[in-house]
Amino acid sequence: MKALCWEGVDKLAVERVPDPQIRNTQDAIVKVRQSAVCGSDLHLINGYIPFMQAGDVLGHEFLGEIVEVGPDVHRHSVGDRVVVCSFISCGRCWYCRQGLFACCDNGNTNPAIAEMAWGFAPGGCYGYSHAMGGFAGSHAEYVRVPYADTGAFRVPEEVSDDRAVFASDAAPTGWMGADLGGVRPGDVVAIWGCGAVGQMAARAAMLLGAERVICIDRFDYRLRMTERHIGADTINYERTDVGGELRERTGGRGPDVCIEAVGMEAHSSGPQFLYDQVKQQLRIETDRPIAVREAIHACRKGGSVFVLGVFAGLVDKFPLGAVMNKGLTLRSAQQHGQRYIPMLLDRMRSGELRTEHLATHRMPLDRATEGYQLFKDKRDDCVRAVFQPDAST
Ligand SMILES: [Zn+2]
Ligand SMILES: [Zn+2]
Repeated sequence: MKALCWEGVDKLAVERVPDPQIRNTQDAIVKVRQSAVCGSDLHLINGYIPFMQAGDVLGHEFLGEIVEVGPDVHRHSVGDRVVVCSFISCGRCWYCRQGLFACCDNGNTNPAIAEMAWGFAPGGCYGYSHAMGGFAGSHAEYVRVPYADTGAFRVPEEVSDDRAVFASDAAPTGWMGADLGGVRPGDVVAIWGCGAVGQMAARAAMLLGAERVICIDRFDYRLRMTERHIGADTINYERTDVGGELRERTGGRGPDVCIEAVGMEAHSSGPQFLYDQVKQQLRIETDRPIAVREAIHACRKGGSVFVLGVFAGLVDKFPLGAVMNKGLTLRSAQQHGQRYIPMLLDRMRSGELRTEHLATHRMPLDRATEGYQLFKDKRDDCVRAVFQPDAST
C-alpha cells in the first residue's frame, strides 16, 4: 500500500510499504478515508522527538472503514465507518478503568524509552515515534488498529466524514483541556494557540458555559477563523501585550482557566523566544515553554492552567514560584479520547460542534508531502491538511 513515511529530519516521502496484518485477536484493519495532519506531527518532522526511524509511517488523526477484524473484536464488524482515537489504550488495565486512557499500561508496546525519560510510559499513539510504541500511522491506505473495541467508534450516519475525522484527536484533546482544566459556567477562559486543538478547546469551553473565551495567536487568518467559526474573542500577540490585555478584559483579575495549546515549538515576540530557541537548538533544553510561562503568569490567583501542547522533556525558567504563590492548579495530559468521543459524535450530530472548517486543504495521499509543507510553513492560510487515499489527483 501507499503511505507517507518519515525518512529523516525534514524529509518525507510517499512510499510503498507492506499492508498491515492482524497481529492480535483484538486488532482490526481500517481502510483510511481521511487522515489529518496535526501540529504535534511537526515536532517529529523537525526532529525534536528523536525516536523516529527511517520508513516510519506518520499520522494519528483518522477515520475509515473496517475491512477486517480479529476474533476478539465484538463491537465492530467489516463495513463499519469508524473514527479511531489517536491514542492506543487497552480498555482493561487499572488506568483505563479510571478513565485515564492515555496513561494505559498496555497501549505502548515499547515502554522502555518513555520509562527512562518520564518514570512511567503512557499508552501508545499511531505514527508517533518509537517512544510511543512505534505504531504505524494513518497517512496510509490501511492502518492496524489494536484494541479496536476500545479505540474505534462507529460514526452516526448523519455525521459526515469531513466533520467526524476531527473526533479522532483535535476535538477530544480540546474538550479535555476545557473539562480537566475545570471550566465552569461564567468563567473567563484564555487559550494560547488557534490551531485546530486550540479552536476545539475554545468551543468546548463555550459549550461548558464559559462566559467569555479569548484566544491568542499570531496568524491573523487563524484568529479570523476562530472568531468566525468558534465565536471566541481573539488577541494577536505580535500586536498586543497579552498579559495587559487579558487583565484589561477581566476587570484586572485575570482569566479563571488558561489553556496552553501550542507545545514545544512555541513562538514569541519577546527575548525569551530567542533564549529558548538557542537552547533547544543546542539541545541544552528540549522544549520551548514560552506559552506555558505566559499562561501561568496571566492566570488569576487560584485559577487553573491546563497544558495541552505536546512537550518531550525538560524546560528552563519554569515559573514554579508563580504556580505556588498564586495557588494555581496545573494539569496536563495526552488525550483521554475514549472518554469523550461518543459524546463528541453526538454533539457533531446535533450541530453543536462543527469541525469541517478546520480542513483548509483536502488532497489525495499522493500529495501528502506538499500538504505537510503548506501546513508547516503556514502557507495559503493552511490550518489543517487532510489526506484522502481514495481521491484522485
Ligand atoms: Zn494530534
Ligand atoms: Zn489500558
